Amino acid sequence: MFQIDCPWCGPRDQQEFSYAGEGGIQRPQDPSATTDAEWADYLFMRRNPRGMHHEQWRHVHGCGQFFQVTRHTVTYRIESIRRMGESAAAGGESS
Ligand SMILES: [Zn+2]
Repeated sequence: MFQIDCPWCGPRDQQEFSYAGEGGIQRPQDPSATTDAEWADYLFMRRNPRGMHHEQWRHVHGCGQFFQVTRHTVTYRIESIRRMGESAAAGGESS
């Protein structure tokens, strides 16, 4: 169990939040120009790294807002938390 620092509410227990999928997935600019494989990749293929991972979370038992988290999947250490649309000040996909 760990705490997540909601950008609107402050630090709360992780049980108040719900994982909302991998972050940073970009919708193709022109979906009609993509191949079936590219579209399937956009819709279904997600990373499952052992290390730092960009994620979306939602404060379901609080403000209800979605936000971005960069978190280590093994240690649960959170490197950064940002509101949607804010870019990461640091970080990346390193282990
Ligand atoms: Zn909140």
